[in-house]
Amino acid sequence: MVNVPELFGSLVFDERTMKERLPKQTYKTLKKTIREGKPLDINVANIVANAMKDWAVENGCTHYTHWFQPMTGVTAEKHDSFINPNDDGTVIMEFSGKELIKGEPDASSFPSGGIRATFEARGYTTWDPTSYAFIKDGSLCIPTAFCSYTGDVLDKKTPLLRSMEAISNAAVRVLRLFGDKETTRVITTVGPEQEYFLIDKAMFDSRKDLTYTGRTLFGARAPKGQELEDHYFGKIKDKVSAFMKDLDTELWKLGIYAKTKHNEVAPAQHELAPIFTTTNLATDHNQLTMEMMKRIANRHGMECLLHEKPFAGVNGSGKHNNWSISTNDGRNLLNPGKDPYNDHQFLLFLVAVIKAVDEYQDLLRISAASAGNDHRLGANEAPPAIVSMFIGTDLEDILEAYLAGRDYNAHVAEKVKTGVEVLADFNKDTTDRNRTSPFAFTGNKFEFRMLGSSDNISCPNIMLNTMVAEELTQFADELEQAENFDEAVVELIKRTYREHKRIVFNGNNYAPEWVDEAERRGLMNLRTTPAAVAHYIDQKNEDLFKKHKIYSTAELHARYEILLENYSKIINIEALTMIDMAKKDIIPAVSKFVKELVETASAKKALSAEITAELEVELAAKLSKLQLCFSKRIDKLDALLIKAGDVTGKQELANYYADEVFPAMQEAREVADEMEMSMDAKAWPYASYGQMLYSVK
Ligand code: ADP
Ligand code: MG
Repeated sequence: MVNVPELFGSLVFDERTMKERLPKQTYKTLKKTIREGKPLDINVANIVANAMKDWAVENGCTHYTHWFQPMTGVTAEKHDSFINPNDDGTVIMEFSGKELIKGEPDASSFPSGGIRATFEARGYTTWDPTSYAFIKDGSLCIPTAFCSYTGDVLDKKTPLLRSMEAISNAAVRVLRLFGDKETTRVITTVGPEQEYFLIDKAMFDSRKDLTYTGRTLFGARAPKGQELEDHYFGKIKDKVSAFMKDLDTELWKLGIYAKTKHNEVAPAQHELAPIFTTTNLATDHNQLTMEMMKRIANRHGMECLLHEKPFAGVNGSGKHNNWSISTNDGRNLLNPGKDPYNDHQFLLFLVAVIKAVDEYQDLLRISAASAGNDHRLGANEAPPAIVSMFIGTDLEDILEAYLAGRDYNAHVAEKVKTGVEVLADFNKDTTDRNRTSPFAFTGNKFEFRMLGSSDNISCPNIMLNTMVAEELTQFADELEQAENFDEAVVELIKRTYREHKRIVFNGNNYAPEWVDEAERRGLMNLRTTPAAVAHYIDQKNEDLFKKHKIYSTAELHARYEILLENYSKIINIEALTMIDMAKKDIIPAVSKFVKELVETASAKKALSAEITAELEVELAAKLSKLQLCFSKRIDKLDALLIKAGDVTGKQELANYYADEVFPAMQEAREVADEMEMSMDAKAWPYASYGQMLYSVK
């Protein structure tokens, strides 16, 4: 039996441990640092570091590492041992405040978007005391921010912390206007729901495409996919269940609030949702969750796929970023309460989000843009590439009533009658959910649903925090000057909703008519990563990030370039992998199989003139034709990759990969999949979709 409360956070140097292990005064100073973002004195840091080291060593650690999130999208760590030599040749375990606060990894090989030339390889990592240190794999991990020698940010954590500060400052100003004198800080909270696939490890290892790119580049559809909808919330298989239990335990030890787990829509697809927490922590935790998923799957002889589209023809994986704003004493500012119609403060925060989503649609789209996620957005499973928002019929009615200057009659919660005596009737939510909306209000939070499963959630939250900070700042600027505050608020709510209601769409986002309707409304439809990312450096976005001190011009341009470069590199690797698989495995396999067919045909003919070898002959002919066509398409792909060398400009190159290379890959795949369908399963060089999707029992 696991004792969850005891287990929970046992590998984290959290408040409980700090309190236990630090002198009272040190604990107090440290808490002040954490709460108020005060700089940490070196003497305090020395005491904290020593206590951390003792705790870590008692828990089996020999090393420590600054754990950071460079712009690769994954976390990075470089381990140093605690040992320090004594004069007599022995060693002691030491960890200083300096080592805790600052690290100097050679940063030259992390993407910097040209900010830092390779000869200026120095980068600094600095401890983020708002995120607790933890133990992973025998190392004490210190969550850190990462910047260059010149102070430019090179990571995803620093801008996130900056954006949290920006929204806090702006929101507190607005709260003051409503007479709130207590709130000193406002924080954003996030609960990220994480989707993933589990397949047999040996099958994963046998496929170069999965190994190199995380997704299948070839593969004919299995006879059964998700059409019966029998996997969603279905019974969890024993092996998966054992994995999930193990995962929960490991996550709990790391202080991660793993809460909900269930099967998802596609076969072999599952989901994990944690209980929400501060955005900064939620981001660190989500990165750790993804890492643990992969590691623990391996322990169980499986591979966890976090790619957005590992298999064509069945749903891909996303991540839902549930986001809200609350005060430092835990009041959720997006909670509509009992009487939202008369709650001007709530309505003002609501229209701030509406205005933000409308004005910065492109930033939200960019935050979900990646080569992997391009397979989902716009397909019939994830929200479309068009950003719109759902606020529910109740809130829409309220805002419409404001516009029309009429009263609003609250919908009375109806009882749902189950018609069965022993089952209690229950109150119906006054508004249904909209599962197709990319940005949906779900009771007391917004759910941003465009994210890909492998995304680091810092980017969407940087965008969200910053854009809402901007709107709240504008509101505060205006309202602080108002002569009659109450009237001014109502006017502002009305005006903002009128000007930005085009972004509100409560209908079916998958319907083809929505594309036309959205265009009429003037909403953006950015279909591919290069098309979306192009807007990152638009003047209005640069102004936004500079005003709120999130990114300098150089930092913004660096990010823009990294996204584009990353996209081009991914498509290039995928194309190269395809060519490799085609030439080394698929084409030879088809030749071999055709040879077998021909041999069988002649053996049959030799046996007797009466026996027909029509089947073998026809099949051999068909496959030979397809094989030739395939080989030509692969050659074309090869030629396109060579031509890519001539394309200048990062944006142009990314466009080239999207417009020329990607379609050529699709064309090659089509033929390969057709050949797979016509071949002996044993003759095909790779595990089939059917085998992979139903590989875990
Ligand atoms: P779903 O039906 O989409 O699975 P749930 O109600 O289970 O939705 O919640 C999904 C996620 O939203 C959970 O991670 C939950 O902790 C998170 N969540 C709930 N309230 C908030 C909030 N105020 N701020 C951020 N996330 C929240
Ligand atoms: Mg959800």
